[in-house]
Amino acid sequence: MKKTYLLAPGPTPVPSEALLAMSRPILHHRAPEYEKIFSQVREGLKYVFQTQTEVLIFASSGTGGMEGAVVNTLSPGDKALVVRGGKFGERWGEICQAYGVNFEAIDVEWGKPVDPALIAEALKRDGAIKAVFVTHSETSTGVLNDLEAIAEIVRNTPAILVVDAITSLGVVPVPVDEWGLDVVVAGSQKALMLPPGLAFCSVSEKAWRMVETSRLPKYYFNFKEEKKNIEKNQSAFTPAVSLLLGLKETLDLIKAEGLENIFARHDRLARATRAGVTALGLELFTESPSPAVTAVKAPTGIDGGTIVKTLRTKHGITIAGGQSHLKGKIFRIAHLGYADTYDVVIAMAALELTLSELGYPVKLGSGVRAAEEILMK
Ligand SMILES: *Cc1c(COP(=O)(O)O)cnc(C)c1O
Repeated sequence: MKKTYLLAPGPTPVPSEALLAMSRPILHHRAPEYEKIFSQVREGLKYVFQTQTEVLIFASSGTGGMEGAVVNTLSPGDKALVVRGGKFGERWGEICQAYGVNFEAIDVEWGKPVDPALIAEALKRDGAIKAVFVTHSETSTGVLNDLEAIAEIVRNTPAILVVDAITSLGVVPVPVDEWGLDVVVAGSQKALMLPPGLAFCSVSEKAWRMVETSRLPKYYFNFKEEKKNIEKNQSAFTPAVSLLLGLKETLDLIKAEGLENIFARHDRLARATRAGVTALGLELFTESPSPAVTAVKAPTGIDGGTIVKTLRTKHGITIAGGQSHLKGKIFRIAHLGYADTYDVVIAMAALELTLSELGYPVKLGSGVRAAEEILMK
């Protein structure tokens, strides 16, 4: 027997309250009992997104929500601005390309945050830009972008701001209404503590005006149809009933803990993880780290993929490696969602053992100790 631990930046562990709710017999989605739960889910989502507007729900992975954000706001030949500083920033560009949206890219070196001034300059240069696509927490590099500064720039232009908040919502503040974020996309399998399978999109009034005139093709991911239905506690098509029962539970947990406490917990776990790996003599990949995931440079002479594989096969711990050109160069330890103090301690202890086994000099306990010194405060 080997006990396993999931410390990857999605999917993330699911609390037992949600697991149990999802094992309930299937409710029929046109029945009052389901509608009551669904109305509570709607309220819970508004709390997490910090918005008064409706948060739309789709049965898809997070990328479906991203695709929905593009096809519901833009029209063929429209111009967009895409920030690409990692795998997920690139995805915005790929979706735009798939639908014939012309876009200008701001290419940011992987591991660095985008300079918001570049967005301001691009918008000033080209008044035809209809939408700005950004990644708040770029999971592939572990970078957190300055969304507040970006929002302040875009808010005062005719363009809408579309945010991939898939590993930032429920981790750091994403006050949708206060910052004027136009479309914010989230997914179930990150900080919302559920299995993969749900995507969420909040839509501002400014964005709804664009939805009214959008002419890109769409069928399932239709914002107008979903809005009409959700206001009646329904969805246009059969919803992922079991996942929604789980969502009701995780939203209750989020509300009980409170957003401020949740942000503080993620910050504490992230600082402890960074302190731990630094104490082991390892280097962080970025100077603008996301509290969702810590990206660490693999030490010279040791392949990052080997660290990930050894942790999984020998120690039962799943973390993530590097993607694209970062393959083998970094590894990523997640601490988002259903994560707490001892997840960090476990990650540090296992990392110490793994690095020792791979021939990297480790003073056993030094990473754990540095992490604990933060965790005890
Ligand atoms: C996980 C993730 C996504 C969505 O990926 P799916 O596999 O489609 O759920 C998008 N953006 C970021 C930043 C992510 O971390």
